[in-house]
Amino acid sequence: MPFQSVSLRSLGRSARRRIVSAVLALVCVAGSVMASACGNEDVQVTGPRIRIGVKFDQPGLSVDNGGQFSGFDIDVARYVANKLGYSPSQIQFKEAPSAQREALLQNGSVNMVIGTYSITQDRKSVVDFAGPYFVAGQDLLIRRSDRSKITGPRSLAGRKVCSVSGSTSATTVKKYFPRSVQLMELSGYAECVTALVSGAVDAVTTDDIILATLASAKGDHSLMVVGHPFTKETYGIGVRKDSPHLVAKINEALREMIASGEWKRDLDAATKGTGFTPNKKWNPPTRMDAAVSDERVRF
Ligand code: GLU
Repeated sequence: MPFQSVSLRSLGRSARRRIVSAVLALVCVAGSVMASACGNEDVQVTGPRIRIGVKFDQPGLSVDNGGQFSGFDIDVARYVANKLGYSPSQIQFKEAPSAQREALLQNGSVNMVIGTYSITQDRKSVVDFAGPYFVAGQDLLIRRSDRSKITGPRSLAGRKVCSVSGSTSATTVKKYFPRSVQLMELSGYAECVTALVSGAVDAVTTDDIILATLASAKGDHSLMVVGHPFTKETYGIGVRKDSPHLVAKINEALREMIASGEWKRDLDAATKGTGFTPNKKWNPPTRMDAAVSDERVRF
């Protein structure tokens, strides 16, 4: 059968418009080469999969159960990915320990990081942030039997405390805690909990929501969160530097997730039975302005 060509000019104006926009849409989907024609110069998330850096060992927030991921950060990741056009099966979760988050974004190993990732000025100089989508506060996890002895950062003078390398929590200990506090830095908070249980340290410090879900996952009430958050941690979604269009799209998804009630449902499910209630003054965040965390300790 001979090839039949149809001249664009022979078509009606609306048909012409439909064809042109369909072709443009295809080109836009095809990749970043033509991205500037679509007005999305910086939207680097293209292709059949989206790679998202998450924690693998933070129950309630983000945990890997033999390839099955769950938790609040995972719910946020799936919601945002869906708004960017990716189904759950197109998401590839990659482990992003605290100390590696910026590097993973900078070297292109992941398209975004959603991992209890506080927005800070230092981090903003190397990556961009959407959000905040949650606001936590740094607190202490202790053995319940120590509850009359350890009531806040000041009672840690001369004691050992565990936190994670590359976290704002460890930075805060070094900058603001009494000088005599000995800091043990490990690569994840679950490891710090093991050190606390064994008696190698007297406290674990990081964000209240992380500590509450870890204590609850232990299941025996032997650990407790002191309950006096002393910093303000604004959780952002990290993306590569200079990605304003991608940040805008993610912010749109976050606003929608909060407005639809999905954000609250997911957060309630993540924290159910832990005794933790998010700070109502700060949550849900009302402005997606990448506000930086406040690391100064309120003793
Ligand atoms: N939100 C803090 C941070 O981004 C502590 C939790 C974490 O290490 O993921 O450093």
